[in-house]
Amino acid sequence: MEKYLSQLNEAQLEPTIQKDGPMIIIAGAGSGKTRVLTYRIAYLMNQGVDAFNILSLTFTNKAAKEMKERISTIVGSGEAKNLWMGTFHSVFAKILRFEGHHLGFPSNFTIYDTQDSQRLMGSIIKEMGLDKDIYKTKQIYSRISSYKNSLITVKAYFNNPELKEADAMARRPKMGEIYKEYVDRCFKAGCMDFDDLLLRTNELLTRFPAVLAQYQDRFRYILVDEYQDTNHSQYLIVRALADRFQNICVVGDDAQSIYAFRGANISNILNFQKDYDGVKLFRLEQNYRSTKNIVHAANSVIEHNETKLDKVVWTANDEGGKVKVHRSLTDGDEGRYVASTIFETKMNNQLQNSDFAILYRTNAQSRAMEDALRKREIPYRIYGGLSFYQRKEIKDVTAYLRLILNPSDEEALKRVINYPPRGIGQTTIDKLMVAANGYGKTIFELLENLDKVDIKINAGTKRKLSDFTTLIKSYQVMNETANAFDLAEHVTKTSGLMREFNKDGTPEGITRLENVEELLNGIKDFVEGQMELADASDSLAEFLEDVALATDLDADKGDVDHVALMTIHLAKGLEFNHVFIVGLEEDLFPSAMSMNTRSELEEERRLFYVALTRAEKQAYLTYALSRYRWGKLVDSEPSRFIEEIDDEFLEILTPTEERRINPMLSADIFGDSKSKIVNPNKIRYKPAKKPVLKKGGTAAKKEPEKFQVTTPKNLKPVAKTTAIDASNTNTNLFDSELAVGSLVKHIRFGNGEVLKIEGAGADVKAEINFQHGGVKKLLLRFAKLEVI
Ligand code: ATP
Ligand code: MG
Repeated sequence: MEKYLSQLNEAQLEPTIQKDGPMIIIAGAGSGKTRVLTYRIAYLMNQGVDAFNILSLTFTNKAAKEMKERISTIVGSGEAKNLWMGTFHSVFAKILRFEGHHLGFPSNFTIYDTQDSQRLMGSIIKEMGLDKDIYKTKQIYSRISSYKNSLITVKAYFNNPELKEADAMARRPKMGEIYKEYVDRCFKAGCMDFDDLLLRTNELLTRFPAVLAQYQDRFRYILVDEYQDTNHSQYLIVRALADRFQNICVVGDDAQSIYAFRGANISNILNFQKDYDGVKLFRLEQNYRSTKNIVHAANSVIEHNETKLDKVVWTANDEGGKVKVHRSLTDGDEGRYVASTIFETKMNNQLQNSDFAILYRTNAQSRAMEDALRKREIPYRIYGGLSFYQRKEIKDVTAYLRLILNPSDEEALKRVINYPPRGIGQTTIDKLMVAANGYGKTIFELLENLDKVDIKINAGTKRKLSDFTTLIKSYQVMNETANAFDLAEHVTKTSGLMREFNKDGTPEGITRLENVEELLNGIKDFVEGQMELADASDSLAEFLEDVALATDLDADKGDVDHVALMTIHLAKGLEFNHVFIVGLEEDLFPSAMSMNTRSELEEERRLFYVALTRAEKQAYLTYALSRYRWGKLVDSEPSRFIEEIDDEFLEILTPTEERRINPMLSADIFGDSKSKIVNPNKIRYKPAKKPVLKKGGTAAKKEPEKFQVTTPKNLKPVAKTTAIDASNTNTNLFDSELAVGSLVKHIRFGNGEVLKIEGAGADVKAEINFQHGGVKKLLLRFAKLEVI
C-alpha cells in the first residue's frame, strides 16, 4: 500500500479507495472527512485519473489551497496544479468566463461584491422614487439573493402571484420591479453579482445541453466538502454535472449545518441517497481532533436536537481538561479574562498566539476582545471583518482597473468618474444616467459620443468628462500590452489617487498608501505566478476575479503570529489548540432572532456544536452578566447551551473580578484563595424549576432563574452573605430580607436605600436611591444586590 494511505484508519481508507460511483460520507466533526477527500484525490490521480478531470468544491478557497498543497506533497506539484479546486463561486466564475458569451455576457465581465450590489440597489430605489425606509437596501439585497439562490428568475417571479403577494404584504409591492431593474442593469453593465455566479451557471447548464455535456465529460470525478451547507442552486449544479458519470463523492455532517439562514438546505445531505442509484454510505466515528472531554461535551449538547441523524463520535485522544466555564460581570471583564488567560496559558505551556482562537456569534463582540488583547500586547487578527479588498482605497484602485477592463461596469464608473475630484458633480452624473437609459447605451458609450448626443451639460463640464474618457481610454490601450502589475502601478500614479489618499498627511493617509502598496505587491505576485504557468493573458481579468471573491480568510499570508478572532460561521472546518467561545448568553447565543421556531433554535445549537468542536486541547465558554448592546447596558443570563452540557465535562471557574469586588467569595468558602478554579464537584449548575403561573396574574415571562448554585452541605452557603452567586439571581431577596428602608449594595452603583418595592414573583422590582447614580428601578432577579 502507498505510504500516504497508511495515514488513514480503516474506516477512512475504505471511502478513500472506493474509486467509482456515487458515495456519501456522513460523519461528525474532526473525524477526517476533509482528510479523506484530500487523500482520495491523490489516490484517484495515482490510479491514472487526469487531474483535469477532477473537480473538488470546498467551503473556502483557503481550504482548497491547503488541500492542493497536501496533494502536491503526495503526487507532485506539477500535476496538482491542474486540479479544478475551489469554492463554488470561484470555480464557476472561471467557467462563466469561458462560456458566459452564450448568455450574452462578455468574457471580461466583472463581479459585483456585496457593496457594489447594494449601492446599485440603493440607486435604483432612489431613481424609482421609493421610500428608502421601507425599501431598505440590505433587506432588498437579501430578498433578491434568496430568489436567486432558489432559482426564481425575474420571469419566474412575475409568473408567481404568491411571491408578488408576499412582497405586497410586506409593504414592498415594487419588489419585482426593483428585481427586474437590478438584473437588467447588471446585465447591461456586463456584471454578475455573487449569486449570479451560481444562477447563471445553472442557466448555462440547463439552456445549453452541449455546454453541459462538455463539462460533464470534463468533470468525471466530483468531490464536495461540507455538503450539508450547499444551497439549492449549488445542489442543482452538482447534480447536473455528475449526472453522466455519477462519480460523485460528498462529505458532510448534518450536525454542522449552519447556513440555513442563507438558503443552505440540510435535506440535500439527507436526500443524497435518493438522488443517485447505488449510493455507498460511509461513516467515520473516530475523532482525531479533540480531547475526550471536548468530544463528550459536544456530543451531550447536540443530543438536544430532535432533527438529526444518529451518529457516533468517539476519540482515543487524551481525557484533557474539562470545558471551562467563566462568568464575568461585564463584557469588558470578559475580554480581560480571555486576554489574561491567553497570556498566562501561553507562558506556562510555551504556546504560540496562533494556538488560540476566540469565536463569537456576532462581529460586534470583537471590540471588547480587541481592547483587552491590545492592552496585553497580544497580536491578534480579526477574520471576516472588512476584507482587505473591500477597504475604500483598495476599491478605488480596483474600480479603475475594472473600468479599464469592462467600461460598461456602472458601479466602477460611478465610483471613479469624480474621484479624485475633477469637478464632475452628481447632477451631471444623474443626467448621464438618464440619457444612457434613454439611448439604451452604457454611460461610457455615452461619454465616448458626448458631442453626438442630446444632453444638457455645459461646455466646461463636457471638457472634464472628455478628459476623463481620454484618461480611461489611454489605460485601455496600455492594457493591451502591459501586464496587470505595470498597468496598476501606472494607474495609481497617473490618476491622482495616490495624492488624494495622502493629501491630509495623517497616519491614516499613510496607512492608505501602504495598503495600495500591498495591493500592488499582491498583483505582482499574481502576475509572476501566471508567468510560471506561461499564461500571462487576461491576467488583469483573473486578478480582479480573485479580488472579488477573496475573503480575508484567504488572505492569511502567515504574517506575525497572532490570535485568531472570528465568528463561528467562519470557523467551520478549522481547528485550534485552545478555543474561547465568548458571549454565551441568552439572546446573544442563541440569538434573540433565532428563537422563534424549533428549527431556528436547532440551527443555533448546531452552531454551538461547530464552535465547541473546533477545539483540540481546551475549550472555554464565557459569558457576562451585563454587556453593552446597541449602546445600552443590558443584563443577561447564561446561555442554555452551557446548561445543556453534561456537568461531568464542565469545570466552573470562580470569576476573578467578583472575588476582587467581593472578598467573601474566597478562602473562607472554598479554602483556597489562590486557586481560581473551583472544584466542579463543589459548585454545580442545575436547571431551574419551571415558572409558576400565578392565580389571576400573568405568568412570569421568563424563568426566574436559569441555574441555581448548589453547595455541598459542609460548605457555608454563599447566598446569605452575598447575592452575587453563579445563578445571577436573588430569589432570597424576593420575599424576605428586602423591605422599604433596607440598605443595599450594588456592584456598580454602590450603596443605596430601598424606596419602593413592587410587582410579584419573578417581576419584583425595587426603586432604590443609590449614592452613585441616583434613583434606579431594578428588576431584582437581575440586579446584583447585597443587603447591608
Ligand atoms: P470538520 O467536521 O470539522 O470539518 P473533518 O471531519 O473534516 O472535521 P479533518 O479536518 O479532516 O476532520 O480532521 C480533523 C483532524 O484530525 C485534522 O487535524 C486531521 O489531520 C486529523 N486526522 C484525521 N484523520 C487522522 C488519522 N487517521 N490519523 C491522524 N490524524 C488524523
Ligand atoms: Mg472538514
